[in-house]
Amino acid sequence: MEFIHHLIDGEPSDAPGATLEVTNPSTGAVVRRVANADAATAERAIAAAQAAYPAWRDTPPAKRAQVMFRFKQLLEDNAERLTHLVSEEHGKTFEDAGGELRRGIENVEYACGVPELLKGDYSHNAGPAIDAWSNFQPLGVVAGITPFNFPAMVPLWMYPMAIACGNTFILKPSERDPGSALAIAELLQEAGLPRGVINVVHGGREAVDALIESPHVKALSFVGSTPIAESIYGRGSANGKRVQALGGAKNHAVVLPDADLENAANTLMGAAYGSCGERCMAISVAVCVGDETADRLVESMLPKIAALKIGPGTDKGLDMGPLVTGAHRDKVLGFIEEGVSSGAELVADGRGLTVPGYENGFFLGGCLFDRVKPTMRIYREEIFGPVLCVVRVASLDEAIRLINEHEYGNGTCLFTRDGEAARRFADSIEVGMVGINVPLPVPVAYHSFGGWKRSLFGDLHAYGPDSVRFYTRRKAVSQRWPSAFETTQAEFNFPSGG
Ligand code: NAD
Repeated sequence: MEFIHHLIDGEPSDAPGATLEVTNPSTGAVVRRVANADAATAERAIAAAQAAYPAWRDTPPAKRAQVMFRFKQLLEDNAERLTHLVSEEHGKTFEDAGGELRRGIENVEYACGVPELLKGDYSHNAGPAIDAWSNFQPLGVVAGITPFNFPAMVPLWMYPMAIACGNTFILKPSERDPGSALAIAELLQEAGLPRGVINVVHGGREAVDALIESPHVKALSFVGSTPIAESIYGRGSANGKRVQALGGAKNHAVVLPDADLENAANTLMGAAYGSCGERCMAISVAVCVGDETADRLVESMLPKIAALKIGPGTDKGLDMGPLVTGAHRDKVLGFIEEGVSSGAELVADGRGLTVPGYENGFFLGGCLFDRVKPTMRIYREEIFGPVLCVVRVASLDEAIRLINEHEYGNGTCLFTRDGEAARRFADSIEVGMVGINVPLPVPVAYHSFGGWKRSLFGDLHAYGPDSVRFYTRRKAVSQRWPSAFETTQAEFNFPSGG
């Protein structure tokens, strides 16, 4: 059976110790085994990254960018293989996995422009014969810890820019679907990166703890669930690191009575059930303004949910694959049972679905709850499955209040034809990423991605311009070259430029 090894100092490394199983969620069968780093293995990766740092820091940004150009080409050349790997280990459909890889590659393309992005500011004659400038310098060894639901894309949010900025990197991917993360990092190595600049250590908490505790790791980027994000932010910051920790979500779509209902229903299908709802930007609540709007939306969605094409992710032309693990499917089933017992109306019930030939896969059909109340657990908590909740409200103001009171603030969207309502919504909603008639408003690579409230701990968002700031420190230099004929006088007053 194929073994997924660590990548340390440019070499495959299968340190001794227990390994973990990687399952194909469509079949329920173990397809690979993955190494499980202990603290000593993580420390070897940190030491390799430290050793590689001085030379990489001093490599001109244009040369670092050349590696990114070659990396992008290798990703394109290997797209079919990588897409299959994502789909096989995660379960998402082949086309969806291809979309994830494409969005990841866009971050590499953005990192190719790093010489421009690192240009500082310059002031001639900031004081008498004094010139001043500020520029951006790398931090040193930085690390990223990533979730299962975007095994290719989320690592690519982090290390292309971190490395292009002159840092060296340690990635700790999700242990549930680690194959594509390693395969992609190996392509970066092949693109001409010096040894030790990118390192991958697999495993779980022990490896992460070693990264948090090491004084040599200067910054941590984390993406995952809110409890872990909060804990990593707290512990990393207490250890003096720069930390950005992106957490969970409960994304609401508001449907106004004037919206194009058919368009809203169609796009909500993809936003709620695409990738089995296992997206941090998935819409999991539809807030309908007025009973008539809710009735029409539900009526339009029910036949579409019944018609969802569900099967093994690696097949082509499907709408939905399985959930990532049996344990996760059982957790989602628990939420559905609780929703029913708390009084919500389960108008589409995807439980009990079997896919012929894939009876051991972790499948679940699309579920729709109507008349969900904000006090219910299925409304308050992130389910991370193919379950959409319809909440009925009387006005746009009530919808805005509801969303602003929710603990999460990752993404949201409004369906309407009313420009004034759209403008008011976008202005007053306390959510980091907003769509107007766009249900999955995931920013493109040259903007930045991040939620508000308990969806993000830290100051700077992921990728885009914020990532250049996150992975560098600003240095301000003031310089004076007195002429040989000039005698400098002692100056006791605080210097000013004017
Ligand atoms: P998770 O929090 O279980 O795991 C994320 C990472 O943390 C993994 O690498 C895992 O090995 C590690 N980890 C798990 N437990 C740990 C512990 N106790 N100590 C240290 N490290 C630990 O998340 P997941 O189930 O892989 O991913 C799904 C979650 O991620 C959802 O909540 C989803 O909303 C969130 N997510 C958020 C974003 C975003 O941008 N805000 C993007 C993708 C996913």
